Amino acid sequence: MKTITDETHDSERRSFVSTANDPLGDFPIQNLPFGIFSRGNDAKNSAGVAIGDQIFDLHAASRLGLLSGDVPEEVFAEPCLNALFALGRERLKQLRKKIGDALEVGTNGEKIRRSAADLLVPMAQCVMHRPTSVPNYTDFYAGIHHAKAAGALLTPENPLPTNYKWVPIAYHGRASSVQVSGGSVRRPTGQRAPTVDGGLPGFGPCERLDFELEMGFYVSGGNRLGDPITVSQSEEHIIGYSLLNDWSARDVQRWEMYPLGPFLSKSFATSVSPWVVTADALAPFRAPAMKRPEGDPRPLKYLLDEYDQERGGLDIGLKVFLSTRTMRAADAPATEILRSNASHLYWTPAQMVAHHTVNGCNLLSGDLIGTGTISGPAEAELSSMLELTRAGARPITLPNGERRGFLLDGDEIRFEGRCTREGYVSIGFGACVGRIEGATEKSL
Ligand code: CA
Repeated sequence: MKTITDETHDSERRSFVSTANDPLGDFPIQNLPFGIFSRGNDAKNSAGVAIGDQIFDLHAASRLGLLSGDVPEEVFAEPCLNALFALGRERLKQLRKKIGDALEVGTNGEKIRRSAADLLVPMAQCVMHRPTSVPNYTDFYAGIHHAKAAGALLTPENPLPTNYKWVPIAYHGRASSVQVSGGSVRRPTGQRAPTVDGGLPGFGPCERLDFELEMGFYVSGGNRLGDPITVSQSEEHIIGYSLLNDWSARDVQRWEMYPLGPFLSKSFATSVSPWVVTADALAPFRAPAMKRPEGDPRPLKYLLDEYDQERGGLDIGLKVFLSTRTMRAADAPATEILRSNASHLYWTPAQMVAHHTVNGCNLLSGDLIGTGTISGPAEAELSSMLELTRAGARPITLPNGERRGFLLDGDEIRFEGRCTREGYVSIGFGACVGRIEGATEKSL
């Protein structure tokens, strides 16, 4: 299938939810991302759509017949979006259209306003949850500028692996510790390399705690074991995107990662933003796949598709903010430490899906796939502390004079993502936030 723009992207469309019409907001009627929310900590989870500063309750809307169609009502009452995503791209696309019609200025507005308490809930009164149950989580390494910069610091003898331009490199991550934005992240404890040749490994709380700026995408439908998904079929299997922070313990990683890759240095936490911005909402913001520099090999045939090369990339502006405990105590705003763009990925999401399944591996509805850290070629686009500070050798200085090589307890990292294109209404992702709390003393 091809992802195209239609009337749902019309810049003239307005919602009767007035905050959705704020040009600086993340959630206009042209976006309509899916998420899982509850009205307080102990209330039941249900599926919702973000509109302005409100959440449109899909279960309630379905009960009132506002989404008349072929999606069974109970799908909206599930505690996660797996069953909704299993319906596939085409049915979700139709559903997004119906939701847009329900929220547009017009006759539905009156009907919804009458039942407003049931249908629209202020986001500020809700608790957000993981969008899916995350049956599996895979993390790619498709940011070539990150691979080069991090490689030069972690493995100077071999900065860019020789397979990099042939293989979309990835590892199987840990699904159980994927958490929704807003939670705290406990500093992990682990081993690190001996400081002298032949010495004992160090052990204790991680001293080089880091973030990685990535996009995450969710699988719709999936494939049967043994039955690969081609690049052109991949479009049907990528339902939407969130921001993803692949928290990393660099000292643990450097010591443990040979020969099987990262383990405890990554599995302690991964944060995702709560809203899944659909591939359909992103249609106006597609971009060509990254142009391969002169001399780079042409990908093998199973990774090459003309449409994907022309339209398989994404133009998403990304920003990272840091706030420290001291800054918050002084009511100082978080400071922007870098900007990047999702177009800096060497492999497209469709190529990642095709590669993931070429051996017959089965993806499941609701699986989460990380793109890898999205650094750009410029200094200000380096998308982890490791790269920004040259592994701590050149700490960054914050506006209040504090310095950071890596993250300290109390530090809070916030990601933001936004798509902007002439002629279209700009859409955003909502934030992906995590705050570092001190290590447990149990294992010391
Ligand atoms: Ca990563």
